[in-house]
Amino acid sequence: MAEKTSFEIARETLKQLTLRKLPPTPLNYQKIYSEIAQLPIEPPFPAERLRDIAVALPTKTPGQQKQRGLLESAINQLNWDGVKNALMAYGGFSPPAPEPGKLMSSMLPETLQPAPGKAIEVAPAPVSITAPALTLDFFGQIARMIEFASPALGHDDERFVEQTQSVLKSLRDPRADAVAVKQSLAQYSHRLSFAAEDQAEIKIVLLKLLQLVIDNISQLSLDDSWLKGQVDAVKAACVPPLTLRRLDEVEQRLKDVIFKQTEAKARAVQAQEEMRLMLATFIERLAAMSQSTSGFHDQLEASAKLIEQAKTIADIAPVLKEIVGATRTMAHDSQVARDELQGMKKSAEATEAEIAKLHQELDRVSAQARHDPLTGALNRQGLDEAVVREISKVKRQDTPLCMALLDIDNFKKLNDTLGHATGDAALTHLATVTREVMRPQDTLARYGGEEFVILLPDTPLDRGIEAMTRLQRELTKRFFLAGTEKVLITFSAGVAQLAPGETGPQAIKRADQAMYLAKRAGKNRVLGA
Ligand code: GH3
Ligand code: MG
Ligand code: MG
Repeated sequence: MAEKTSFEIARETLKQLTLRKLPPTPLNYQKIYSEIAQLPIEPPFPAERLRDIAVALPTKTPGQQKQRGLLESAINQLNWDGVKNALMAYGGFSPPAPEPGKLMSSMLPETLQPAPGKAIEVAPAPVSITAPALTLDFFGQIARMIEFASPALGHDDERFVEQTQSVLKSLRDPRADAVAVKQSLAQYSHRLSFAAEDQAEIKIVLLKLLQLVIDNISQLSLDDSWLKGQVDAVKAACVPPLTLRRLDEVEQRLKDVIFKQTEAKARAVQAQEEMRLMLATFIERLAAMSQSTSGFHDQLEASAKLIEQAKTIADIAPVLKEIVGATRTMAHDSQVARDELQGMKKSAEATEAEIAKLHQELDRVSAQARHDPLTGALNRQGLDEAVVREISKVKRQDTPLCMALLDIDNFKKLNDTLGHATGDAALTHLATVTREVMRPQDTLARYGGEEFVILLPDTPLDRGIEAMTRLQRELTKRFFLAGTEKVLITFSAGVAQLAPGETGPQAIKRADQAMYLAKRAGKNRVLGA
């Protein structure tokens, strides 16, 4: 069949409008025209909405004024390409290069505009691929950034997850319309700002909840003395800024506390039940005893009467027999009751002793907490656990780990001249400065009296020495006051990088030897092992 001319299509369209009794609106006309011409049915051009956008755009600079003029004229001509280019220019993007051999209508002066949707054939021209390639790469980078950040934003909001996926898809689609991508990115970043705020809020609320749980645990405990140290440490560990390491520590400590408390509580409940049973038996026994006593009493009275009335000794003999029998039974009952009560007393004492032992055990566990009470640094047990953790990370991630051992110089003299309390203050000062100067992932442990070990994960030897030298410099800058006297402390340190196959204690021993050499070499210095 011969193709219809535009004129024929227009006539047929009007006919169909009448036949179908449709109002002759531009929308209906376009729909039927497209149907007859077998053109894809396109959604209507949203001129009014686009005009609203155009009016809202700023016109502060001459460039913006020009782009706004171009945008308005493209809207008036229902020209999508023109709209796209004007908006891209607004956003600082250059218009996309046309496909070789085609020129977009919006690139022509208005007088040369072809019919909407048609392109003008031109001779192939060298086309710069830099801009689109750059844009694609740029969009790819944004996609990667979104992908990396999205786990932090949670997966609870399904719509947000869908939006993320659709933005990622359009960012990676080489045929996607740059303006449309930019628009969806703008919408996405708007939503992202809420999602990020939500997550930050959730984190704060969760932390508050954690604090509440910890407070409640300490309130629940009847005997705080053994729990207080642990609970305080957990509280201190969950103060922001949080790191995975600190959260790990909170988890470990909470587990300890909860385990010990559950154990103590279960035993206390059991002991209480035992006591209740014993008391019930005791009361029963007491009732039975008073019953048998009153029975015995009645029997004695009856026997006394019989004796009074007895005329001969032969009359008394059976009464006496009864009395002896009743007395025997009574004595037997009393014996049994006494034995039972003795047994109950013993069992109560045993339970009491067991609970006391349990509390002693709890005290011991509490005393074995992982932190040194004076400096707040890890103690030996805490250090041992941290070393195991770090070494397993070294094996998993194949990263270098340094262990530094520092010993305060002339500490005995400081104690002797300024007193033990000032010595203690010096130790606390050193720990405080170290925590401030080292990275959050570094671990400080009190190894002995005035000796500390610092674990430096992800650090090769030269960087480890540098870090310790930095700490040394910082410490010489920050003195502390003992009364009015300024006290300056220095240390000598050895640093060892964990060698393949080496254990934690072996590496610390090497660091100790290097520290010893640093002392020999005149103190106040850092040496590598
Ligand atoms: P060097 O420069 O060679 O390291 O000498 P030093 O005096 O620092 O070392 P030495 O081992 O002779 O003395 C360490 C002193 O540290 C002895 C001990 O009384 C003191 N000390 C250990 N623990 C504490 C503590 O918790 N508080 C205080 N104030 N002193 C402590
Ligand atoms: Mg020492
Ligand atoms: Mg010393």
